[in-house]
Amino acid sequence: MNAHPQLDSTRSIPPPDPDLEPLKVSVYERMAKAAAQLMPLFPYDHAGAIIPCGNVLIGGPGRDHGQFFHWNTVSEVVVCYGSHNSPLSPAQIIATQNLHGVNSRLSDETDPGAYAVIVVTQHQAEEGEQSEAMIARCTSCKAELVRHTYNATPHDLPGYDAARHGSATDPVRQFPTAVGSAEFADLRNTGEIRVCAACGHDNGPFSGAVWGWARQVAQTRAVNAAHRHLRELPPAVRSS
Ligand SMILES: [Zn+2]
Repeated sequence: MNAHPQLDSTRSIPPPDPDLEPLKVSVYERMAKAAAQLMPLFPYDHAGAIIPCGNVLIGGPGRDHGQFFHWNTVSEVVVCYGSHNSPLSPAQIIATQNLHGVNSRLSDETDPGAYAVIVVTQHQAEEGEQSEAMIARCTSCKAELVRHTYNATPHDLPGYDAARHGSATDPVRQFPTAVGSAEFADLRNTGEIRVCAACGHDNGPFSGAVWGWARQVAQTRAVNAAHRHLRELPPAVRSS
């Protein structure tokens, strides 16, 4: 037996899974027409899947993406595909901590010329349960306003929550991070949460619209309903 398996010259990458056709997309093309930030660029979301998610953040008058924190049991890598007036440099790569801050990545969100095209890649859990949380802190005293923890276990692991993310017959499953993030935006905007319990500061509204998570979740629900409706039509109607 080789004492150094990593140096074994016979080691090889297994052939591709026949059910997972290799796919190629352009992040620039895909994100030009995307409905939301954190949009999975590929349809694969199985246990152990590498899920690159596109983001295109843009500045403009009155824009405010806010600041929140994301906690994930799995690893994430951020790659910048181009930016202007952003602390992120084009081609910059960041391996995030399990708990990391999230904001627009724009130095001046009100600058109409500011933008950042970013891919955040999650490596979904290979076994066990995947858990994530979205956290908001008071802008005045930094006390935690809300911590929304949710189940993000991939669909082919025992802990998968089909009621949240879609049944086996749905052609498009929900992306767990988008579902949890949309819920977080709603929670964050309730009166008892946006007013800090520690210092009384009113943190104002959080703009879920600029992130688009609720829209992505609603569109995914709609396409699944449309697909189900079409399948349930009598064959004669379906073929007419
Ligand atoms: Zn406070």
